[in-house]
Amino acid sequence: MPSPPRPLSPVTWFRQHAERTPLRLLLLTLVVLLPCVLYAADKYADMWAVRALDETVAEARARLALRQRTMNDEFELAFAGLRRLPDLLALDDRVRDEVAPRPEAAPHKPPQASVGRRAPLNAFLKTFAETMDLHIAWLIDHTGLTIATSNYDSADSLLGTNYADRAYFIAAMSGERGRQFAVGRVSSVPGFFFASPVRQCGTVLGVVAVKTDLPTLSRRLRLDAAFVTDEQGVVVLANDKAHIFHALPDAPVRDMPVSARLLRYKREAFPELSLRPFVVRGISETHGLTLIGEATRPALLGVIHRPQDGLSLHVAEDVGEALTLEDRRQVRFHLAVLSGLAVLGTLLSAIIYTLRNRAQLHIIEANNQALTRLNGELRCMAERDHLTGCFNRRRLDEAMNAELARSARSGHPLALAMLDLDHFKTVNDRHGHGVGDAMLAHVTEIIRNQLREPDLLARVGGEEFALLLPDTGEREAVALLERVRRKVEENPLPHADAPIPMTVSAGVAEARPDIEPGRWMHEADAALYMAKRCGRNRTVRATQVPDDSLEGGDAPPQCAILGEAGNEDGSPGAG
Ligand code: GH3
Ligand code: MG
Ligand code: MG
Repeated sequence: MPSPPRPLSPVTWFRQHAERTPLRLLLLTLVVLLPCVLYAADKYADMWAVRALDETVAEARARLALRQRTMNDEFELAFAGLRRLPDLLALDDRVRDEVAPRPEAAPHKPPQASVGRRAPLNAFLKTFAETMDLHIAWLIDHTGLTIATSNYDSADSLLGTNYADRAYFIAAMSGERGRQFAVGRVSSVPGFFFASPVRQCGTVLGVVAVKTDLPTLSRRLRLDAAFVTDEQGVVVLANDKAHIFHALPDAPVRDMPVSARLLRYKREAFPELSLRPFVVRGISETHGLTLIGEATRPALLGVIHRPQDGLSLHVAEDVGEALTLEDRRQVRFHLAVLSGLAVLGTLLSAIIYTLRNRAQLHIIEANNQALTRLNGELRCMAERDHLTGCFNRRRLDEAMNAELARSARSGHPLALAMLDLDHFKTVNDRHGHGVGDAMLAHVTEIIRNQLREPDLLARVGGEEFALLLPDTGEREAVALLERVRRKVEENPLPHADAPIPMTVSAGVAEARPDIEPGRWMHEADAALYMAKRCGRNRTVRATQVPDDSLEGGDAPPQCAILGEAGNEDGSPGAG
């Protein structure tokens, strides 16, 4: 059964696709990695938004601190003056005389009865109130009853009104300065009340009070984006008038008995001043941002408590930039996604195309190697003989030309020998062509074993060989050929029936300066021819060949000059 194909590792898969379909792989990888890019871009946008909000809020906080200081200073300036006004009145002799015990008069005479007597004091209080831009200034006896007032002549005169329950009165009667926000008992005008004790010989005999109403105070104080609450958490001053008499969430006023609320504020209900935390989408912390009342822009709210007035100053600093933060976060997010994809795309392209180029380089390298190998084989085929591995005639011609030139330059001797197997045809005839081929290879091997490295062996015909012997003179060449001849004779071709003997004949010619290659080979051939004619299995030097034979004549060979070598009868040893 064929085994199932092994699953590709992701790296191999990626490499393969980088080579085959780089563009598709790029797009596919980008699509696969898109969720990661989106996630990273989202995280980055979140981080950016948190940092941007931190910076915006920090700047707003600094602005807020500055405004709080300035506003608190203005507040202190205005209230310090107001606090001291009743002190001034309390030191006035007319005021002190009025509350001083009178032996001749009953202390609790109806105040109206004393109006005539107190006219100068009332007039003084009126002038004082008008001069100091006060709503009312009045004098209260130790029982809480108003005995003189700046508005004595108006319809809502305080004369006869009792203020014994008011906190400012109680504080002043105990010898301290009193202050309170309240709605006027007679006038129903809300305002701030300040009171000081009127003393005689250290004893508090009455209280002098002044009131500044809200419109007047608002004119004096510039409450930009700010509001003031009293100790009950009720808004008593605000740049947005609609917020006055609203109460802070969890304000103590809610725990006041209704009667007390009515006495002080002349109202029961106090709508809550809405202070909602403002949350930027995607950022969990609010950074203290608040939406005040009906406002749609977030603000930072800072509070300064003023125990000296029993008031709290709430200053709001606009942080409208927070409104656009979500939009800006979105822009960042989209930019981050685009940049992420661009960077990732570039990186992936570089990786994919590097892999692809590397693969193509490998292919080119492999092709080059194959071409080099083929070239080698072709060259080998072009210059070597297929059967024996010897060089062929073409290569021999090239080598002869080159060696002749070299020899001419160097003056070194150079020899050429022609060899031919004797009666080779009979081997073919007796044993078949295959054995003939084996004999050719066998003899070639024997010859090759006798050669030096620079010697060149070529097959120039069926059973005819040439030996090019650089740096070799005729004598050394003959010695070599004789060695070859003996080795061939001594080493018959092994054969199943019986070893097949063989001999070779050779002709040697030494090169002369300026000899033509063709002529040179002809001389060696002529020597070989003479060796054949003189009985084979021998070596003949070209110098032994008669001139007539060399020039193509058909004179009988003068074999006698050759001396003894090889088989004189010319037949191979066995056959
Ligand atoms: P001689 O001593 O005069 O040289 O006699 P010879 O028989 O060797 O020479 P001849 O020219 O009469 O015969 C050569 C034979 O070599 C003829 C041819 O069939 C054979 N021959 C040529 N090339 C090849 C070859 O590649 N393989 C084989 N087996 N025989 C070949
Ligand atoms: Mg032959
Ligand atoms: Mg031959």
